[in-house]
Amino acid sequence: MTTSTPGSRMTAVIASPAGPTGADTPILGGSTSVRDDSATPPSQTRRRVDQAILFAFIAIPFLAILAAIPVAWNRGLGWHDVVIATVFYAIAGHGITVGFHRCFTHGAFKPNRPLRIALATAGSLAIEGPVIRWVADHRRHHAFSDRAGDPHSPWRYGETVPALMKGLWWAHIGWFFDVEQTPRARYVPDLLADKDMRRVDAAFPALIFVSVLAPAVIGGLWSMSWQGAATAFFWGSLVRIGLLHHVTWSINSICHAIGERPFVSRDRSANVWWLAVLSMGESWHNLHHADPTCARHGVDPGQLDSSARIIWAFEKLGLASDVRWPRPERIDGKRCR
Ligand SMILES: [Zn+2]
Ligand SMILES: [Zn+2]
Repeated sequence: MTTSTPGSRMTAVIASPAGPTGADTPILGGSTSVRDDSATPPSQTRRRVDQAILFAFIAIPFLAILAAIPVAWNRGLGWHDVVIATVFYAIAGHGITVGFHRCFTHGAFKPNRPLRIALATAGSLAIEGPVIRWVADHRRHHAFSDRAGDPHSPWRYGETVPALMKGLWWAHIGWFFDVEQTPRARYVPDLLADKDMRRVDAAFPALIFVSVLAPAVIGGLWSMSWQGAATAFFWGSLVRIGLLHHVTWSINSICHAIGERPFVSRDRSANVWWLAVLSMGESWHNLHHADPTCARHGVDPGQLDSSARIIWAFEKLGLASDVRWPRPERIDGKRCR
């Protein structure tokens, strides 16, 4: 997922629940005056190299997840590793959910400038692609959700069981390898016009290094040992990145296939309660598609949504304003009768 070639598909690594800034505003702007460097298609060789790197970034963390239980069983897991992995998961994960998704994609609240930069940086640590491409893909997802044009609908191949199995794979991972690019000038003219966002977007390759290496450095210094650096790298980098990838991708695949649909939306989005904690509230995906700009996705009692709690804290600290909190009458108006 290096993004030194801005037009490459691999820059689009992940997907998630995102969309236009509002349910009724599928595309922001439409300006063609904004420079869009994704318009130049990459060469065939470049594409192959990009796809090989993308494959490595998906496969290696996944193999680490498979190896996690035997490694833990063999005492390759200490409490330092748990702390480092959890903190990095929370920072990168909320960078995606609070920053990339609820703020930059949907405008659910307005952060001040330092917070805006911090959120874009934190989300980049998830290694789900650079911020501008991520937002472009997710606005397109909302514009066409579960219809032709959606970059990652599990219903792409039809409704039979074999078609859905194939579609789930596509929605989860396959779409990353699609050569079709989301036109950025059309979907994210606001971010392309924002110097801070362009800088963080361009810094994505450097942030990959930070995300991959920082846990090892912290783990080594904390324990003053190479062993501590190695186990922190395994848990805090590989397993953490792999787990967050698959949780985010599950919003695209699982949360558009199974679950409860208490709200009216024009797609197959669903609420999946057992993903709520790991997805930091994003798996209340049916409500999200019913009301995309809402800052809280878990609107009903008992629906855990740590991302909403963090936005609440930002608001209380004076770092965020214009938060679009759910209003009971608006939410009730969207319930299925
Ligand atoms: Zn969705
Ligand atoms: Zn969304």
